[in-house]
Amino acid sequence: MSMAETLLIDGQWRGSADGATLDVINPATGEVVQTISQATVADVQAALAAAERAFPVWAEMSARERARLMHRAMDIFRGRLEEAARLLTLEHGKPLNDSRKECAYSADVIDFYAEEGRRLEGTHFAGDLGPTHSFVLKQPLGVVAAITPWNFPVDLLAWKLGPGLAAGCTFVIKPPSEAPLAATLFVRSFVEAGLPPGVLNIVTGPGRTVGAELVTNPISRKIAFTGSTATGLWIAEQAAKQLKHVTLELGGSAPFVVCDDADLDIAVPEALRRAFSHTGQICISVNRIYVHRSRYDEFVTRFAEAASRLRVTADGIAEPDADMGPLINQAGLETVRQHVADAVERGATVLTGGRAPDGPQYARGYFYLPTVLTGVTREMRVMREETFGPVAPIAAFDTLEEGVRMANDSPYGLAAYVYTSDLDKAFYAAKHIRAGGVGINVNDITDIRGPFGGMKMSGIGRELGTPGMDAYLEVKHVRVRIRPPR
Ligand code: NAD
Repeated sequence: MSMAETLLIDGQWRGSADGATLDVINPATGEVVQTISQATVADVQAALAAAERAFPVWAEMSARERARLMHRAMDIFRGRLEEAARLLTLEHGKPLNDSRKECAYSADVIDFYAEEGRRLEGTHFAGDLGPTHSFVLKQPLGVVAAITPWNFPVDLLAWKLGPGLAAGCTFVIKPPSEAPLAATLFVRSFVEAGLPPGVLNIVTGPGRTVGAELVTNPISRKIAFTGSTATGLWIAEQAAKQLKHVTLELGGSAPFVVCDDADLDIAVPEALRRAFSHTGQICISVNRIYVHRSRYDEFVTRFAEAASRLRVTADGIAEPDADMGPLINQAGLETVRQHVADAVERGATVLTGGRAPDGPQYARGYFYLPTVLTGVTREMRVMREETFGPVAPIAAFDTLEEGVRMANDSPYGLAAYVYTSDLDKAFYAAKHIRAGGVGINVNDITDIRGPFGGMKMSGIGRELGTPGMDAYLEVKHVRVRIRPPR
């Protein structure tokens, strides 16, 4: 694979049909990390056609053989995990340890689903109306278009490829233009493991051309999308016109509810990590913190103090254990600035942060300090929109009912966190908060065995767990008349 031959179509690494390229920029330095091919619509069509040709080959292969290839791919990938993690840090800016964790988890997801594929079974039953017997078969959906964002470009691809490949689907993948390199290396491992040509194809390029063709071309039968709610809504509309299946993992605005009996020794560092790691650019990042009034002052003091001590790195490879790096680009930085300015204009107080860090090493990247706001109200953009940056607004509540109401005061419903020592409060909050995942005394709702996804404007469908596999399967009812022996 030479420098600008980074499209994968029908098993071949290629440049784009018109020779176009795009630069992948290190958001910490503004430097070009690598120049890659930028697909044309004709490239996308060729990739979809290859995936369509490969589909019967892959779907007919035994689940055992598919699993063997998937495991072999991950053996290869683990051998270059450090290379992938370094690329991920260079293209995304996250500290190296976060990149290592993402890459390792991605390989686990593929291994997990490789075996899930071997355990797939349908059901069968005796007919209800007469001498028949019914079988319910699970069959792969067909060609899948997988479109992923830059914040977890390897992980969120693995969440789609794992179950989809194990189910027997073939893929055309559009990695994010901001961070395609580690994801491309991940896919390269599958090619080297011996996946039949056309089972996986990569077309990197702009959403409005490459993404749009993937969504609207009749060959793709499913769109597996993670990204913003605005793009997800457009995809849902297009998919509806052809009744394509969709999984839409969209934006979030996760509340973090601290009850009067919470253990702050746990709640403070957990809120801190989930608010600021990945520079707040996680769909399940803590966006709104609500603390019982009796613990408000204590929480705010401890949280702001700890936030001011976080280490922001301009070189995530040299400082692998730093707390956070830069934002992904200028637009991301602008949103953060605007949300903080809006909050301050409407009366919020900046306890720490609220600006870029000092130092020449930060001058060329998109940096912003971990920022803590108090005196926030529900009208402020930080409380209503997805900031996708290192900003933690904190408000107080008096009763748990009120705390839950405030937690639900958002168009989003992806993740929520509740910290309490009281089982009744935990169950009350878990039941009444409208979110696809609720963490009780834990700041991550991700578990390979648990369904992950959103309510309200955070999406439709679930990844991971058993639903994550069902999302790549169609069920077919086969009804057989049983004739008496002649
Ligand atoms: P985005 O919607 O701008 O882009 C996501 C992907 O969609 C990119 O690959 C982009 O090129 C592509 N795209 C853009 N327009 C398209 C179109 N018209 N047709 C097809 N594809 C198109 O989102 P982003 O800024 O890259 O990612 C950040 C967003 O992702 C945040 O809103 C975040 O909450 C969300 N996210 C959600 C989850 C989740 O699981 N729910 C996980 C991570 C990120």
